Amino acid sequence: MSLSEVRANIDAQLQVSGRTGDQVELIAVSKVQPLDRVEAILSKGQRVFGENRVQEAAGKWPAFRERYENVVLHLIGPLQTNKARQAMELAQAIHSVDRPKLATTIARLAQEMGSCPDLFIQVNTGEEPQKAGILPADTDAFVAQCRELDLPICGLMCIPPVYEESALHFALLAKMAERNGLTGLSMGMSGDYEKAIRFGATHVRVGSAIFGERQG
Ligand SMILES: *Cc1c(COP(=O)(O)O)cnc(C)c1O
Repeated sequence: MSLSEVRANIDAQLQVSGRTGDQVELIAVSKVQPLDRVEAILSKGQRVFGENRVQEAAGKWPAFRERYENVVLHLIGPLQTNKARQAMELAQAIHSVDRPKLATTIARLAQEMGSCPDLFIQVNTGEEPQKAGILPADTDAFVAQCRELDLPICGLMCIPPVYEESALHFALLAKMAERNGLTGLSMGMSGDYEKAIRFGATHVRVGSAIFGERQG
């Protein structure tokens, strides 16, 4: 696989699913990848990247940003409230808003900073105890709460359980977004981004298919 193949596959899936006018944001997930691999993808013109740790992103991206313009960073991993400020300074989008305490912290910081990244609410569609995300049953109320806080919620995000058919989770997430009037759907990774597009994904998070396997 390569960046250009992934892009071609995305376009093909948009055609297949009758979404010809649509755009899907390809987020190249660069976590843990060696810097030379990230640089190679930057030099091919990719500008939208995903990281799942604030610390790692902070160590890597300021230097790249000095050399490449228009880099857009999406934070896709779990976020501790004490890292929220740093995350908001670094990233243009956060995909892991998943609890009231984090939402109120982000709202307070957004007031203070006068800006806020685009936000996705992470839903734990598989109801897995070890996984981040708000439970499906609590999602509608949480969306409403985020709106009361004036947060710029643009959609929902999920990571399906590894050993389940991801289509079920994509369909569920799409339904929850629709009934809440949200248009953004962050779903699909290297193994299932094509399927996610058929279920309406607007943002796919693709790591190993672009960069190769992660080491460590
Ligand atoms: C690592 C990661 C990805 C990318 O996974 P690949 O299987 O390498 O494409 C996507 N989303 C999240 C939340 C991740 O942590």
